[in-house]
Amino acid sequence: MRSTMQPVPLLISRILTYGTTVHGASEVVTWTADGPRRASYDQVGRHSAQLANALRDKLGITGDQRVATFMWNNQEHLEAYLAIPSSGAVLHALNIRLFPEQMVYVANHAEDRVVIVDNSLAAPFAKLLPHLKTVEHVVVNGPIPAEVSDALAATGKTLHDYTQLLADESDSYDWPELDEDSAAAMCYTSGTTGNPKGVVYSHRSSYLHSMQLCMSSTLGIMNGDRILTVVPMFHANAWGLPYASLMAGASLVMPDRFLQAEPLARMIETERVTSGGAVPTIWADLLNYLDTHEVDVSSVRDVIVGGSACPPAMMRAYQERHGIQILHAWGMTEMSPLGSVAKPPAGLDPEEAFRYRVTQGRLAVAVQGRLVGPDGTEQPWDATSVGELEVRGPWVTGSYYLEEDPSKFHDGWLRTGDVGTLTPDGFLTLTDRAKDVIKSGGEWISSVDLENHLMAHPAVLEASVVGVPDEKWGERPLATVVVREGQQVTLEELRDFLADKVARWQVPERWAFIDAVPKTSVGKFDKKVLRKQYAEGAIGVTTLG
Ligand code: AMP
Repeated sequence: MRSTMQPVPLLISRILTYGTTVHGASEVVTWTADGPRRASYDQVGRHSAQLANALRDKLGITGDQRVATFMWNNQEHLEAYLAIPSSGAVLHALNIRLFPEQMVYVANHAEDRVVIVDNSLAAPFAKLLPHLKTVEHVVVNGPIPAEVSDALAATGKTLHDYTQLLADESDSYDWPELDEDSAAAMCYTSGTTGNPKGVVYSHRSSYLHSMQLCMSSTLGIMNGDRILTVVPMFHANAWGLPYASLMAGASLVMPDRFLQAEPLARMIETERVTSGGAVPTIWADLLNYLDTHEVDVSSVRDVIVGGSACPPAMMRAYQERHGIQILHAWGMTEMSPLGSVAKPPAGLDPEEAFRYRVTQGRLAVAVQGRLVGPDGTEQPWDATSVGELEVRGPWVTGSYYLEEDPSKFHDGWLRTGDVGTLTPDGFLTLTDRAKDVIKSGGEWISSVDLENHLMAHPAVLEASVVGVPDEKWGERPLATVVVREGQQVTLEELRDFLADKVARWQVPERWAFIDAVPKTSVGKFDKKVLRKQYAEGAIGVTTLG
């Protein structure tokens, strides 16, 4: 039997029209060198229609051509997020932190036709532009110095000014009734091996994912919220916060290029931020700042931490010293990106609840998960059996754009490359990346677990643990440690510090102090580089018995 329901497609244009009318009084606030710049969602809706008109009438975007952005989080980027997919084109937010060769690769691979660029990023973009084969038009947001526009114009592409381009366009647009499964946006994963791979989101997947962010069991984005969106719109869709905010009528506070702790603290205080999203390093910087300055953070309900594991010590510090609840979330570009959020079950005492908060969270309703153990068999959800997590769901990718990668898919499931456990009530705890887990004598040692314990030591700023070849055990952990400025600690002290926290056989013998942990283009620990440095003898290792 067929349902009697109307076959109305789930489209981003619906988020646009709803958010910019019924929530027309909510606003996007963009931080500038001179303080906040405001626009109501009503204004954003009108600009989005003007942008869509301009793209069609002046730049020839009439179908699913790719329109890229090279921008910070700001009002105009939000307008691009809404206008491009709603008009039937495909939004491609270029990750400005990729290495130049990777950036050129992804823009050419996606066949970007138009790029909208922030003026503050126009100079580095001008260097890439001669290599972007398919780009015809460059739209610059904000004024730029003559030499930068000369450099852009010298590439032979047509240059436009964002405001002028929109100025004479109508502020309404007859958004097309698209197929909900058609492409809305694409993101490339910043994997540390091989070329970045493209993930293509549909209107339907984006719509459902946004609704998920509004559920109280996940992020609970709601009307009246003021969301500090630090997580970049060029990396995994700013975790879906822009669309979810339009849906719920939450306002967005956009930091543009002001990502340091001091301006972020000012945004929180003056804009009465209620929630926000960023990777752990941003929140760690902010914590240092809040610990040493008077900042009114009383408006903040919670902040979302994801992208890499949130150190439990930081979570406690925010809670105890600043009354801010950290919501630990896990996801990946391939999952739109949100997969789970660590909201403890009801009715627990604070210490029990804390044990849930530090996990990667409970899988969301539409995200099915299974654990595949080292021998290829499915593992039980018993909180102790370890396996690689595989996922399925309506906002999980089933392939990469124009690229076969069978190693990432398994009978219709996405192999996340993340290793961990699941509890019977669906809470995920990651113990490692599949490629970073240390295989010592047939047992797995979690590098992340050792790092978290080490980073809880007051003298340790950062610690990274990698598996290195060992004659007897196959592999053993090497602990590399960055000492906090002004602090002193010995390797023996650190080893003893670990000894009562992990099983004896897991305590590393190989130790090194280093100046900084090498990072990938998006700020994650680059363990590939550490392993290489170790193999080349570039790390001064001390062996402790
Ligand atoms: P990306 O696609 O660049 O966002 O990277 C996704 C990967 O980041 C995941 O597969 C995890 O390995 C890692 N990741 C994301 N969130 C977390 C988290 N809360 N804890 C640990 N790792 C995380």
